[in-house]
Amino acid sequence: METTPLPGPDCWLSPHARVDQSAIEGQGLFATAPISTGTVISRFGGRLVTDPELRQLLADASAAGTYVDTLSIGQDLNLVLPPGVPNHAGNHSCDPNIWWVDPYTVVARRDVERGEELTLDYGTITDDPTFQMPCSCRSTACRGQVTGLDWKLPRLQAEYGQHWVPVLQERIANS
Ligand SMILES: [Zn+2]
Repeated sequence: METTPLPGPDCWLSPHARVDQSAIEGQGLFATAPISTGTVISRFGGRLVTDPELRQLLADASAAGTYVDTLSIGQDLNLVLPPGVPNHAGNHSCDPNIWWVDPYTVVARRDVERGEELTLDYGTITDDPTFQMPCSCRSTACRGQVTGLDWKLPRLQAEYGQHWVPVLQERIANS
């Protein structure tokens, strides 16, 4: 695998995005101004850990009743976000308006209106084969459920092109 660039120490969220109550689920991210296609919405930072290190962190957090916010970056490589950042609040949609452009950056997939909820397709970020989540996002493209194996769907591969997290991008390229 090519060398993964190092993340910045902190997360950055567009000043045109904020966390609010969502009609989809719990809290979500919303556009507070019109956002045009390709605009950076969120840049993830933190520290990189291996799978065994992450398992230990998760076990420690579970024992302490705390929470570890993490993203899978590559094979045996995970980003642990600083605690309490809002960046991870984005909900899932099967027809998302934001998507991945590099290991740490999410941009608008299309023009977004003020007040619209900012959504990602969790299928493009989840590499856990046991992950399953029912979906009722009401988009015409709704798959009914989101799974950690959605990256195998040819329709999604065609739809999302290069806009998967790197670990899934690599899996698609090798499949
Ligand atoms: Zn859906």
